Order: sequence, then C-alpha cells, then structure tokens
Amino acid sequence: MKWSFFIGRISGIGLYVHWTFFILIGWIFFSYYQKNQSTAEAFMGIWFILALFGCVVLHELGHAFAAKRFNIVTKQITLLPIGGLAQMEKLPEKPMQELWVAIAGPLVNLVLALLLFIYLGATSGFPSIETLKVLDASNFLFGLFTANIVLAVFNLIPAFPMDGGRVLRALLAFKFERGKATRIAANVGQLLAIGFVFLGFFSNVWLVFIGIFIYVGAESEAGYEETKSALSGITVKDALMRRFTRLHPADPLRKAVEALLNGQEREFIVMEGDVVKGILTRNRLIQGLADYGDSSPVSDSMRSDFVALRPDMALEKIYHEMLSNGCEVAPVYDGGALLGIVDKENVEELLLVRKALNQLKPAAQ
Ligand SMILES: [Zn+2]
Repeated sequence: MKWSFFIGRISGIGLYVHWTFFILIGWIFFSYYQKNQSTAEAFMGIWFILALFGCVVLHELGHAFAAKRFNIVTKQITLLPIGGLAQMEKLPEKPMQELWVAIAGPLVNLVLALLLFIYLGATSGFPSIETLKVLDASNFLFGLFTANIVLAVFNLIPAFPMDGGRVLRALLAFKFERGKATRIAANVGQLLAIGFVFLGFFSNVWLVFIGIFIYVGAESEAGYEETKSALSGITVKDALMRRFTRLHPADPLRKAVEALLNGQEREFIVMEGDVVKGILTRNRLIQGLADYGDSSPVSDSMRSDFVALRPDMALEKIYHEMLSNGCEVAPVYDGGALLGIVDKENVEELLLVRKALNQLKPAAQ
C-alpha cells in the first residue's frame, strides 16, 4: 500500500504502518488531553491504542499462520486506523481452508481475552465497565480485555469482506459455486455496510469509514470473483482476434491517432516485420502527443514490457494479470509465430455472450 512505513518483520512477514495511522495517534492524544488537560492521561490513551494495535497485529498474524498451514504466503501486514490488513499472495479457495483462515484472526482475540480474564481474576479482579471512561493503570488491562471481546465480535459480523463475511462465504461455498457464494455474501455485506454508515452518522464517525470500506471492498471482490468464474474453462484461443491494426516503430503517432479515431481499437501492436516490438496503449499515445508531437515515431511512446500469451493459457489466470499490467492488449504466440491478439474489450464481449447463453440454459432444458 502506498505511503506505508516499514516497522519490522515477524517470521518473514513485513509489518507496515499507513501514514493515516499517525493521525489517529494525534487525534487520541488531543481528545484525551482536552478531557482533563492532563498529559499523563493523554499518554495513557496512546499506550492503550498501541496495546490495542498490538492485539490487531496478533489478530492478523493469526490469519497469516492459518494461511501458512495451507501453503499460502502472507506478503505483508499493514496497520490502518480502521484495523489491520494481511495481504496474502492469493486467497484460499477451498471453503474449509477459507473458513479456517478467516476465523483464526477473531480466535486470537478470544484467546487474548481469555488470558486477560484469567490474569485479572487471579490478581486485581474486575472493575465496572463504567470506570473505562477514564483510563488509568488500574483499569488498563480490563480495558484491553473488553477491547479484545469487541474486536472478536465486531470482526465476526458477516459483512464481507470482513472476517465474518468470509466465514459466511466459505459456508455458502459448501453449497453453491464460489462466484455465486461471493455474490450472496457481498450483497449481505453491502446491506450491513449501509447500516454501518447510517449508524455512524449518529454515533461514531469511524463506522462511516468502515462502512464505506466494506461497501467498496465487497463490490470489487465480488466483481473479481464473477469475472474469474465466468472465464473458467476459456482459453486464450477462444478470445483470439486475427484481424488487427499493426503499426511500425517508425510510423508517426499521427497514424495511430487515425487508427484510434477510425476504428474500435484503443491499443495497438507495434511490429517490425513479423516481430512484435511493443504496444502503444491509449494513455501512452495521448502522453506521446503531448510530449513529442504527432510526427514523432511510435517507438518513442510504445511500451516494451507487454505480456506475451500462448493459445492454451487459461484466460481466468491471465486476464487480471493483463489488466494490472496496464495493457489492454497482448500478442498471442504459438511457438515462434504470432497468431493474433487478445484485447480487453474482446474478452468482455466474450463474457457477455457466455452470460447470455448461461441464462438461456434453464429455459432450453
Ligand atoms: Zn481479521
């Protein structure tokens, strides 16, 4: 994540803090200070937040270690003001594995709460909940105990993509196909997210942020899953286009502009003889016009870091890679020979066709 600071490494997993986290620390300091004009109290507030985020790190490590059992590597853990985020190389796809990975985080908080419960019971006992309005050394651990219970319960709310929502998706995936299970879980999540935002306006502004975060997250993950499951079984060969515009590296950008305005293509393959030299994306074309003018050669603006495909590759695997690379078009080779190209729009059209045919099925039977 951009603007995150590295703070350490735990069993190979990088630990980062997002800059907005420091706003939270500042905000806590001032709001505690304003209450009683006491610096000691303000520092107590900060210690508490740091201890709480220590518990959040342990929660994320819970996810990471559970994932490790299924050979999934966690790249990094980032702390945000609204909680932690464990970024895994991939998500567990088997329902049972996803269930374990999702539930491991909240389980860590329940174990921490249990340990604190035992410790408090054996030593100072339990102050009343009312005392937590003012934090001091006498109720600090009790505060932490309460916070861990809240963390566990809050994370288990079935608001996908929060932990509880992932548990829900995993349970649904025992019965439904993964794309459908995700869609149901995402809809439940978005409904709850709207509830969070609404509640947040009347109580706590963090709930508004969390609600927005869930809403957007649910939509993007459901969209990703849907595309992925719609693409399953389709290979690059199925989406191959044999007719396309070829540019030469020495062609002036003007020629690319003409092709852009005259046809449906948005990105172009640049070839010298039979060899693909690069790809001129629309962004690069526009940028090139501004930087070098329309008589500059295509080779000044093209990208040479394109993805090259083979006809037997599964589209499900390479489609998102293609998009995250920023190129909407990729050349397809069979052995050494160029067969054609695959472009984003063509894949999307293929998806629309597949969707329409799928809807037709029940009626045809
Ligand atoms: Zn979690």
